[in-house]
Amino acid sequence: MSATAIIRGRAGGEAETGFDAQSIRADFPILLSEVHGKSLVYLDNAATTQKPRQVIDAISGYYLQTNANIHRGVHLLSERATQAYEQARVKVQRLLHAADAREIVFVRGATEGLNLVASAYGRKVLREGDEVLVTAMEHHSNIVPWQLLCEEKGAKLRVIPMSDGGELDLQAYERLLGPRTRIVSFVHVSNALGTVNPARRLVELAHQAGAIAVVDGAQSAPHLTVDVQALDADFFVFSGHKLYGPTGIGVLWGKRALLEAMPPYQGGGDMIRSVTWEKTLFNELPYKFEAGTPDIAGAVGLGAAIDYLDRVGLERAARWESELLGYATLRLREIEGLKVVGTAREKAGVLSFVLEGIHPHDIGTVLDQEGVAIRTGHHCAQPALERLGLVATARASFAFYNTREDVDRLAAGLARVKEVFA
Ligand code: PMP
Repeated sequence: MSATAIIRGRAGGEAETGFDAQSIRADFPILLSEVHGKSLVYLDNAATTQKPRQVIDAISGYYLQTNANIHRGVHLLSERATQAYEQARVKVQRLLHAADAREIVFVRGATEGLNLVASAYGRKVLREGDEVLVTAMEHHSNIVPWQLLCEEKGAKLRVIPMSDGGELDLQAYERLLGPRTRIVSFVHVSNALGTVNPARRLVELAHQAGAIAVVDGAQSAPHLTVDVQALDADFFVFSGHKLYGPTGIGVLWGKRALLEAMPPYQGGGDMIRSVTWEKTLFNELPYKFEAGTPDIAGAVGLGAAIDYLDRVGLERAARWESELLGYATLRLREIEGLKVVGTAREKAGVLSFVLEGIHPHDIGTVLDQEGVAIRTGHHCAQPALERLGLVATARASFAFYNTREDVDRLAAGLARVKEVFA
């Protein structure tokens, strides 16, 4: 029996799972387009997701009806724009199950959130000889800010190792934690391997060692239910554009006491209470960290994306994505010479692979001709791939609007790749 039949037999059709990806696709205009004369199969969701019409309409609606600068105006449009921006903050608070909307800081994305923590918190607490821990599977945006900080402070960046399959070595982590560990910053879901890390446990161990825990949620917030209070992390970041929202907006959540104690990240308008030549008093949270005119339309778009996700149902969507991942893994394993990269027991949304004798870029180029968009390369996680003896993989990544037919098109495209390079 083929993998297709096994998984269909076991998991049933789409109707049986109760998730109707097909009708959801109608909300995403771009998914109806063609590339190279073929209907688009979009499997590059870990890089960025497509946007539903509801998000696109919210952004254009904002510019058509509301646009004004926020917080300082007494006129109606400014009040409306301020309201829309602050409502988006409350939507993010609910998404993350945060205790207080003042703990939600709008930034450009996960990258800026991590840089903010490294600069504002890290600069304040780190001393020479201190240690920062990250995992072997980090995205560059959770490596480089800490490298810069450690270099400046004479501190040491240490790495929690992982297995060949892409699971963290928790015993090694416990051994690495020590009195010099100040910060543990880890990826919740790996964009290169799909591993879902045991975040609650990692945070707990960091706290036991007296360190704070920073969670890179760029790939988790769109696919898992995140409860920052249950997680008990100290900081959590994610990007709007990977959560069906626009580019240019993202979120840093931080525990209020920590945010209160941190110096500002950037200076400028809106982050101040008063300015004189002698002394500037900073604004309260979260404005202390939001210098200058923010991406108001971006926040509105992100709010609309969260509303949309609420209507779809994040948990139902996650179950569907997980089923698709299982189906895709079985289908791809049928292909001779294909090796799945990242075989952790807990995975979400990402299927990285290599094909014997064929460069990942060649795989991606042929698939593109077939209308199938995947990502190839190091996925901004060069040290993770180096650890596995690779320089690049091909990566298919899923969203809830993907279907079994998308996976079948990927498998057929890979058969074509093998023909071309036979
Ligand atoms: N961390 C992870 C795990 C990611 O996948 C990404 C984006 N690929 C980032 C951080 C950075 O996100 P952004 O580029 O949106 O800031």
